[in-house]
Amino acid sequence: MFKQLFNTIIRGGDGTDRGPSLDSMLEQSDKHLNNFETLVPPAPNSKPRTPFDADVPKEQITMLNLTAQQRLKVMSKGIPLFANMQIGARMYDGKFQPIKSTASPEFIAELETMAREAGAKDIGYVKVPRNAIFQDKGLPCEYAVVFTVEMDKEPMSTAPSFECQLEAMDGYKRMAAISKKLANFMRKNGFAAYPGMALGGLTDYPHLAELAGLGAIGYHGLLISSGEGARLRINTIYTNITNLPTLEAQGKENEHLWVRDFCAMCKKCIRKCPVEAIYEQPEPRGDGGMQTIDHAACRDYFTRNYGCAVCLVVCPFSQVGYEKVKSHFKGNPQAPQFRIPVSSVVKFV
Ligand code: SF4
Ligand code: SF4
Repeated sequence: MFKQLFNTIIRGGDGTDRGPSLDSMLEQSDKHLNNFETLVPPAPNSKPRTPFDADVPKEQITMLNLTAQQRLKVMSKGIPLFANMQIGARMYDGKFQPIKSTASPEFIAELETMAREAGAKDIGYVKVPRNAIFQDKGLPCEYAVVFTVEMDKEPMSTAPSFECQLEAMDGYKRMAAISKKLANFMRKNGFAAYPGMALGGLTDYPHLAELAGLGAIGYHGLLISSGEGARLRINTIYTNITNLPTLEAQGKENEHLWVRDFCAMCKKCIRKCPVEAIYEQPEPRGDGGMQTIDHAACRDYFTRNYGCAVCLVVCPFSQVGYEKVKSHFKGNPQAPQFRIPVSSVVKFV
């Protein structure tokens, strides 16, 4: 993984016209799943993981055409990010034997304190529905701790730019460190814990975050949460703790779903997307979820323009903050109502 990273950033590619493949790097990590005899399987209609690699000539891939100074900055984020991702992937060696599967409220409180001290913003919990597991993947455990980290407004507001992409990488770097730290803490206390990959991953993180009650998915396909709106990244830790305080266990509803009613009248991201990759209306998808963007159109522009993020930045929730939008929004009875559906009960096979 390091060699590939070095080739990507320092040598500007792997000698091919298309540059190195992030997807093949992630597939390598996924091979650790072969260490498990049983996995929680995806639903038959689960969607595949969205590929990162774009069919774009190497000279147009912004991350392969950086100045020497920019490359050093990227390495300062990329080295710890990929190191922690690699350490996290090794935790999927199939050897850890949990001795507990229920946690005390004190343990959960301690975990949350540790997560916040390490830089997490919001933390939630979910029993992972099978339709959130990507096609051909699987999970060692059926529950997940989901957390977010915030990205700074100033660099993000310059999107698309090198500074913006660097800040996004910093978010990934922080998530990889936090998930490793929390997973180690959970294991020391006897629970199974597997950090989700900061990049890529086995599940649809916005889907899980919405089910965990951390926010709602906006028309740009990103999670919108209280505070910074869409200016965040999401990660998970899969665990065997069966009594996590999920929304369901607490008898609560996700309080953020009104966000999509606002989206139905706002549509700013749709107007501002440089390649019209965001659909006018989210479209029903085969797995029961809603598809909000044309990934291929987004990915090509994203690859040529420092990871774009224009939709994230122009979103009113990111600009003025969630609370202000909420206080001014009077409702939209014409908005199409939809929820991200939960598939049938998760079972081991
Ligand atoms: S820009 Fe508007 S439509 Fe797009 S996600 Fe944000 S609130 Fe929703
Ligand atoms: S990241 Fe850029 S290209 Fe992709 S959907 Fe958002 S605005 Fe459009």
